[in-house]
Amino acid sequence: MVANKEHNYSIIVQKYGGTSVGDIERIRKVANRISHYVEKGHKVAVTVSAMGAMTDRLVALAKEISTRPSKRELDVLMATGEQQSIALVSMMLLHKGIKARSFTGQQAGFLTDSRSGAARIIEVNPKSVLEAFKEFDVVVVAGFQGVDEFGNITTLGRGGSDTTAVAIAAALGATECEIYTDTDGIYTTDPHKVQTATKIDNIDYDEMLELASLGAGVLHPRAVWYARRYGVVIHVRSSFSYAKGSLVSDIKENIVKTDKPVTGVALDLGIARVDLLEVPDKPGIAAEVFAALGEAGISADMIIQGVPGDEASRQQMAFTIDKDQAEYATEAISSVLDTIGGHFSIDKNIAKLSVVGIAVGSTPGVAARVFKAVSSAAANIQMITTSEVRVSVVIADDKAKAALKAVHSEFDLDSKS
Ligand code: ADP
Ligand code: ASP
Ligand code: MG
Repeated sequence: MVANKEHNYSIIVQKYGGTSVGDIERIRKVANRISHYVEKGHKVAVTVSAMGAMTDRLVALAKEISTRPSKRELDVLMATGEQQSIALVSMMLLHKGIKARSFTGQQAGFLTDSRSGAARIIEVNPKSVLEAFKEFDVVVVAGFQGVDEFGNITTLGRGGSDTTAVAIAAALGATECEIYTDTDGIYTTDPHKVQTATKIDNIDYDEMLELASLGAGVLHPRAVWYARRYGVVIHVRSSFSYAKGSLVSDIKENIVKTDKPVTGVALDLGIARVDLLEVPDKPGIAAEVFAALGEAGISADMIIQGVPGDEASRQQMAFTIDKDQAEYATEAISSVLDTIGGHFSIDKNIAKLSVVGIAVGSTPGVAARVFKAVSSAAANIQMITTSEVRVSVVIADDKAKAALKAVHSEFDLDSKS
């Protein structure tokens, strides 16, 4: 919330995700909730996502035309999902007699860089939103979208509406941003995959950033980054109840004292493994491959380099990328291998499982316990990375859920009730 002394009102910042605005009945419920705050005298800055699986449907349409659709036009297409929602939510509010107005990302002052599909926010100019609050009680901003310096529509990456909401909160000077979703908070792992997951009442920015980056889909990583940068507390809560949810804030000192090294377990099913085989074993080859990927806007993770090939002076390399970038990666890698030689394969049937906790690096035996639990689910570990705050393994996706459950139990995270 932020108190506006000049105009003597306070602004509440809320975001409603895809499920929360999934159909007209749900939009009616969202409008009721927003009006509850308006009736208490607040102004409300609302961000909405596209309805239900709308973004997936739009992407599927584009893929019917090409497996590698133009990234610029894909952004134009995907951004229409949020534009539908802002209009419908605003219409519903107006229908209820509440003064509301919709804003596209551009109208709300979102300037981004030009990375189609993964744009970063450069600046949010809240002028038009603040101006609107002179006349309206609710502004409804399209999540996930902005505009670059050339006027192109951009999107912030899948799940990016969370980031829109936190960026608005930061631009308005609000200290809290409410994220309404289909669970009643943040859990030790995805509660839709592991029923025994435990709700976390308070979590530190650093741990949440790590979990979100490693695939805990409940928050977009950039939203957590933004919140930490601007000191905004994120309150993740259910759009189906008024119960308090989970708070993401700066509480590191309290966490370090706990005796449990692992705070949460994340599973990322959205990655693919790339294997480069029999590429020349000489300086500059990795640089060339990754430069081509970088130019195509693809970032690689979990890179294993220097695995010896069968033939002398040839080597193998493996790394992971986002699954939805696989076709673009195929194009980029093919053109490099055409000149340097070698071949490659992409395996989309993998998953990355990660344990996260501020004390992971300082607690002996965490990695061994992860490996043991994963093997108890008969999953073979293909790749490993570790850091001070996490241990990640890549395994086959058909073993992922069993491995997730085993690791979750191993670290004593199952709820006691
Ligand atoms: P929205 O459309 O509201 O943004 P998302 O599907 O993007 O909703 O995010 C909410 C989902 O995140 C939940 O339904 C849950 O399945 C998933 N999720 C993954 N990890 C977690 C976690 N650690 N805690 C809570 N939810 C999680
Ligand atoms: N509609 C976008 C998506 O499905 C953004 C979001 O929901 O946060 O990824
Ligand atoms: Mg989301």
